[in-house]
Amino acid sequence: MKVNRRYIASGLMIGFLLLVAHVYVSLHSTDLKPYERDIHTSPGVSGRDGQNIEYKVSSESLTNYSMDIVLDSSSHTLSGTLILDYVNTEDIDIGELFFHLYPNASVNEDVPGYLLVDNVKTKDLGQDLDFGFGNQLLNITLPQALLPGESFSLYMEFETAITNNDSFRLNFKDDPSLGLVYALCNYYPILAVYDEQGWNLEPQYFVGDPYYSDIANYYVNLTVPSDFKVAASGELLGEDPEVNNQIEYEFRMLNARDFSFAISPDYIVEQETFRSIPVSVYYLPRDAGNWTLTAMDITLYSLDLFSDLYGEYPYTSFSVATTFGFYGGMDWPGIVWIQSGYRWFETGIAHEVAHQWFYAVVGNDQIDEGFLDEGIVCYCHWYYFENRYNYMGFFEEHLYRTAETSNETRYPAGLVINRSINYILENDIDGSHYWEAAYHKAPSVLHLLRTYIGDANFFDALERFYTQYSFQIATFNDLIDCFNYYIDINWFLPWFNEGFIPEVELVAAQLENTTLSGYNLSLTLKQTGLSVYPTKVPFLIDVEGSSMDELIWVWCNSSTPTNIQFQFDKKPTTVEIDTTSGYLYSLNLLEMEPFTVQDNRNSHSITDTTDTDPTSSSTSWVMVSPLIISLLILIARNDRRKK
Ligand SMILES: [Zn+2]
Repeated sequence: MKVNRRYIASGLMIGFLLLVAHVYVSLHSTDLKPYERDIHTSPGVSGRDGQNIEYKVSSESLTNYSMDIVLDSSSHTLSGTLILDYVNTEDIDIGELFFHLYPNASVNEDVPGYLLVDNVKTKDLGQDLDFGFGNQLLNITLPQALLPGESFSLYMEFETAITNNDSFRLNFKDDPSLGLVYALCNYYPILAVYDEQGWNLEPQYFVGDPYYSDIANYYVNLTVPSDFKVAASGELLGEDPEVNNQIEYEFRMLNARDFSFAISPDYIVEQETFRSIPVSVYYLPRDAGNWTLTAMDITLYSLDLFSDLYGEYPYTSFSVATTFGFYGGMDWPGIVWIQSGYRWFETGIAHEVAHQWFYAVVGNDQIDEGFLDEGIVCYCHWYYFENRYNYMGFFEEHLYRTAETSNETRYPAGLVINRSINYILENDIDGSHYWEAAYHKAPSVLHLLRTYIGDANFFDALERFYTQYSFQIATFNDLIDCFNYYIDINWFLPWFNEGFIPEVELVAAQLENTTLSGYNLSLTLKQTGLSVYPTKVPFLIDVEGSSMDELIWVWCNSSTPTNIQFQFDKKPTTVEIDTTSGYLYSLNLLEMEPFTVQDNRNSHSITDTTDTDPTSSSTSWVMVSPLIISLLILIARNDRRKK
């Protein structure tokens, strides 16, 4: 099986970009307040109280993975058996099962990784089953098709070789000065998802995260050398007495999408409880300077914050472990990995903890809609810093970064959030597009949405998304439905679906029709960019004799100049853009110098076109906007084709 080097390069570039992104952030994060240990000060939005989520699917009706695995630390291999009690939860007959063999993405490395499967039989070992391989896949033909609700149990043996190439997530590194760590994910055959598109059989790509799996129950026994410390997805149920310097541990995790480990003889371990759940942090001596007590504190704060915001953390244990990799951090159910030595580990921990809510509990197809969990989760780690330190730097800098990268000179094809990994690969688009769209533009656009619809609607919708889709697979449309439950945001969708952000130009600011009771300020705005759709621009008005600028928000929904008027008691003198209010500004407005208001009081040439707020149901905008937007998109596309 050949590994496409181009994808590896993309993967490395993504990792590099991730590092660069965090360098960018950290430069502006040096004045954060010191850590506070008191985490039980209700960090959530006031009045918000975490809910218990429902297990909509009883764990008794789920597929079970029962595995016995032995780690051989001399050959860096795992040998294992898997008994799969498969339940057909689809509404069609299933005659064949597909499993991802992700480690086979690394068969051509200097130290190759691979996953071999053999002896596929019925669970009672009485009957051999037909099976085959291809493109990181195993397929098994069932003796007869299963009707919906029927189950079938099978047995297989597998061997997994672990590469030492840390551009793969499944890896080991044995460095005399740093330590030995095994980072184990997707080391076993993992069932592919059957959905409305059929079987999802994409291999491990090197753009984005490739994982997409259904909820299942895991019962995992792992044997390791007795001096190794094991961080696992699930809770530790027990351990057997040491035999030949080996110990077998017994773990369990219900309602999980995966079961991962981080294993090292060198780990320093800290343990605490969060709402009666054991929480553990595992780190190498090189990380002790930063991590001692602090990493646990960040972890507990994050668990507390997101539980209050969205609903309770539902699993029975949680662990954070340092590993060697390219990624900064990686999320798995019940465990997250942070790259050892990673300077921005606070961002990393907050981010990966948030993935427990969005990815682990509310699942999504990371190939089709990778921006969905990453966009929300990046927003969560920005919010962590807002909530904990009142630090808004992530918002300000990333809004600017998004404005820059949505500029046609940086991404001529446009930076579209709502795009699949397959689209990126099939159209030979650089992987950095995915990174920018999912990790920067998506949370920036979510922040813009929050400024438009308010905190209550915004966080209620995310809470609803979590409680409604827990332990299921959710889509972007499901998220939009959750927002629409509280407030119509269909008019906002171009921000996710279009490549460029609106460029707004302030054409004129004039005093007109001055009345006896005050001054009438007339602003004329238009959109000039390739994408034209609803945007609301914050302006600061300097008013004569007043020490405070007045903030006004102005909708600008059109590429034709639109005039809006405001009444002031005192004379307005200058107009400038407010860059601190969460607006996803276009670059031309950002670079605008304060605009002096011209006194044009004798003019009577006022155009009476009141621009309208698309969120107001009393206006006709909502009715006409789809037509206008379609027309404008068409015009914009034609324009682009001409270029
Ligand atoms: Zn993430």
